[in-house]
Amino acid sequence: MTEPILPRIRPEIAALAPYRQGKQAGPDAFKLSSNENPFEPLPSVLEALQATTPINRYPDATATRLRERLGERYGVGVDQVHVASGSVAILYQLVQAAASVGDEIVYAWRSFEAYPGLVLVAGATGVPVPLTGDGRHDLDAMADAVTDRTRAIIVCTPNNPTGPIITSDEFEAFVNRVPQDVLIILDEAYTEFVTAPDAVDGLDERVFDKHPNVVVLRTFSKAYGLAGLRVGYAIGHAKVLDAARSTGIPLSVTSAAEVAAIASLDAEAELLERVAAIVDRRTALAEGLRAQGWDVPDTQSNFVWLPTGTRTDEIAEAFRAADIIVRPFSGDGIRISVGEEESIEKVIRVAAETRG
Ligand code: PMP
Repeated sequence: MTEPILPRIRPEIAALAPYRQGKQAGPDAFKLSSNENPFEPLPSVLEALQATTPINRYPDATATRLRERLGERYGVGVDQVHVASGSVAILYQLVQAAASVGDEIVYAWRSFEAYPGLVLVAGATGVPVPLTGDGRHDLDAMADAVTDRTRAIIVCTPNNPTGPIITSDEFEAFVNRVPQDVLIILDEAYTEFVTAPDAVDGLDERVFDKHPNVVVLRTFSKAYGLAGLRVGYAIGHAKVLDAARSTGIPLSVTSAAEVAAIASLDAEAELLERVAAIVDRRTALAEGLRAQGWDVPDTQSNFVWLPTGTRTDEIAEAFRAADIIVRPFSGDGIRISVGEEESIEKVIRVAAETRG
């Protein structure tokens, strides 16, 4: 049979592997591959969801109620808040708005897997800058990588998948080295898990007041446990966010996502207690692994990084055989999410067995 003639696809897109999700887990397995929140949804959030406006109606296109609520929460105007279906959507929107063919986007590597893909989709050129040996952003090297073609820089703190934060002083020094017309996206998807007092917090510090080229990105997927509903937000200069609104797909934040996000803000104290429990588990997990001799970088997130190098695939398989689904990055390391209480000891036990 002859092959059908298919529509032409941009060659760089045809060469791009689709976003790879962590493996799905069976009912008895611990799914520790996607940095999700292991807790069940709060009853108050479920109740709010059930009362969501009729689903035959479109949602409010700009999620006004949620933006107002976030504006009050962070002391900014409603036009300084942008909401989309996950913070990854906002990354796409901002990069599309800032860069196209011939433009460069600087980001640390290894970092969040979506970055190289979204740069390509915009038609831009990615400039990955290697992390330091201890899994941190090399901000000096990233500033050095800026050229007159750089249109955006993505900074991830704590860094996915290695875990360390960037300090306020480091970030301030970095921003001061970057031309003011270059967009800086400060991806703080995991910020609620940070306990280091010197870590940058773009919203507490209102970095966008002094530096209108900085947009801070947050999500309801991790600490707030709404990954399945898809809702994230950005705070920054209204005009920069208008550009993200223009490149976004209209009406993509569902009424359910908006309502659940508001209910989660109402229940924030309760949710942050869960975050504290995850942080305790993180400490136990990281210490247990370090006691076996693993060189686990300082993690300020809801995951740990196991530098397994050339043994990565084999060790990930050992975890899988023990019903623990982790996220391997072949030849480099394994990211393990901090999940259910009972998973911690089990992960430590399997890791010990693989040390041999
Ligand atoms: N940024 C980082 C660093 C992430 O790790 C993730 C999710 N893995 C996201 C953004 C996107 O999260 P979401 O789209 O669920 O808000």
